[in-house]
Amino acid sequence: KAAGKSAYRICTPALREAAVGRAELIADLRRAVRDTDQLELEFQPIVDLCTGAVRGAEALVRWRHPRHGLLRPDRFLPLAEETGLILAVDRWVIRSACRAAADWQDLAAGTAVAVNVSAGHLRRADLTATVADATDAAGLPPGSLTLELTESALIEGTDAVLDRLGQLRALGVRIAIDDFGTGYSALSYLHRIPATELKIDRSFVRRLDDADRRAYATVEMIRRLADAFGLGVVAEGVETDAQHEAVAAIGCPHGQGYRYGRPRPLGELRRLLAEAPDRTGH
Ligand code: C2E
Ligand code: MG
Ligand code: MG
Ligand code: MG
Repeated sequence: KAAGKSAYRICTPALREAAVGRAELIADLRRAVRDTDQLELEFQPIVDLCTGAVRGAEALVRWRHPRHGLLRPDRFLPLAEETGLILAVDRWVIRSACRAAADWQDLAAGTAVAVNVSAGHLRRADLTATVADATDAAGLPPGSLTLELTESALIEGTDAVLDRLGQLRALGVRIAIDDFGTGYSALSYLHRIPATELKIDRSFVRRLDDADRRAYATVEMIRRLADAFGLGVVAEGVETDAQHEAVAAIGCPHGQGYRYGRPRPLGELRRLLAEAPDRTGH
């Protein structure tokens, strides 16, 4: 007990430092969100597994912190969620991604952009207006915007959330269920959600490498489920040739992952779209 007590004293400065670090990071984030000049988007290609053509790109947010360098979302989105700053981050991401995709339509018409929407944002009535304003302002056809929502966000599926999803679909926006298979009760809500596609979580795709029969069966089951519901499918996190062969053999139409391309700045995505042979497949 005595050791515990002194351990407690030794710990205190470290804890205080951590708390200060956290408070500072929150203050920094508040500034970054207000000025938005430190926020950046990277775009990861989503490809057609038969032709290799780029069909779309997922916009992923990064924070170029003046002292800590380029931060990935897992470093700051949890803080953004706790403080409510996530709404401003999401709004900035939606607007910027729509602008980027509107600009690349002349290189690759119909190539969609996907953005991640937080659970908190989905619960807000103004999400529909934010999305409609963003596509209008950018001049992006709403059908070229996909909103990615996680199962956990959808599971809270109140009637208000379902109404909002209906409004978004009525705008023409596409709705993807992200990290599909990791939630708790996929089957109980799937028929009520007006989704257009499922993104198979990379935890299943990763296990395809070891010729894991259960992982194979899971991915195949999700692909069949999507077919039965008339939904598109994207296999996430494809890293190796073996994973690629497996998801292609299973009949997943689309894939995303390091095997096809890492997230990259807009300029590099545009270069990829410009280089692409014949995207129409003719
Ligand atoms: P996510 O939506 O599932 O995005 C895919 C994540 O997997 C990205 O991480 C991407 O870089 C990573 N990834 C892609 N291919 C591979 C692969 O082959 N192997 C491996 N190991 N990883 C791969 P990132 O950029 O760190 O984003 C993490 C999560 O943060 C995203 O997961 C998404 O849930 C969230 N997020 C990212 N940007 C935003 C945003 O603008 N708004 C909101 N609300 N959430 C975001
Ligand atoms: Mg996503
Ligand atoms: Mg995902
Ligand atoms: Mg994921």
